[in-house]
Amino acid sequence: MTSQTSTLVPLAPGVHFLSAAVHSVVVEDGRGGALLIDTGLDDSHARKLLRALEGVKLTPTAILNTHSHADHHGGNAFLLKRFPELEVYAPPLEAAIINHPILEPLSLFGAWPPRDLQTKFLLAPPSRARPLPELGRVSLGGVEVELLDVAGHAAQMYAVQLGDVLYAADALFGPDALAKHPLTFCADSRSQKAAAASLGALTGVRVVLPGHGEPSEDLAGLVAANLAAYTHTTQAVLEAVQAGAGTVDELLARVCVLLGVQMTNAGAVVLNRAVVSAHLTELLGTGAVEVRVADNRLIFTAPRA
Ligand SMILES: [Zn+2]
Repeated sequence: MTSQTSTLVPLAPGVHFLSAAVHSVVVEDGRGGALLIDTGLDDSHARKLLRALEGVKLTPTAILNTHSHADHHGGNAFLLKRFPELEVYAPPLEAAIINHPILEPLSLFGAWPPRDLQTKFLLAPPSRARPLPELGRVSLGGVEVELLDVAGHAAQMYAVQLGDVLYAADALFGPDALAKHPLTFCADSRSQKAAAASLGALTGVRVVLPGHGEPSEDLAGLVAANLAAYTHTTQAVLEAVQAGAGTVDELLARVCVLLGVQMTNAGAVVLNRAVVSAHLTELLGTGAVEVRVADNRLIFTAPRA
């Protein structure tokens, strides 16, 4: 993993990123301003980002949040305190969550979340974000970008093409992140695979930057690694169902054994539970799994032969 520094790493003329657990991308407008794409987990990340911008005499002109996970917009509040007029853009459904971040742990838990689920990893400070439904070429903060629909990891998410640079957001993970998290988060596993495949079909990409991981000049290799990991998860969920009918929680426990995952906090359980649920929905759609209610439990089973 990269160490946290406060210097911008160039990707192309006028396009840089701040390397961190989750990156921020900085796109210059050519007049001393810059569009910021994703703002990191918290004030500390945002402070580093601002320091890096000041180091090269750039002023933020707008923020684009690719999706609503706390580690991609948690720095908004700090930046908006310094620059109250900054416009913040996000995919429409994600903008709703960024405005009302309690929706994140609320949807994962299915009810008002207990304090254990109101950590900064699941609940960022609220910030005002404007719904941005447009895809394709748009101008944000004086910078022309190409937005690509890569929903799946989140209910909605945009990747950003900047000339020959592709910021994949969380549609693609670096190899270390894939190895560390065998249950890669997703809201919709079928769309997650389609999104990764669609990025693999892009032409003219010299360098791809995943939200988590190092920049790579091997887009095809990165896409293949991600598709293999996502498919491996679907297989593990199917194997867990084939081992015997079970509830989501029972299947999650089996999947964790299959993938060598050890969960130690409530946040990990609800996140991984959502991942298993997403793959179950995909498997229900193909007929590989069936669902029924029995003994007051929602049970997933292999189809009867
Ligand atoms: Zn994410």
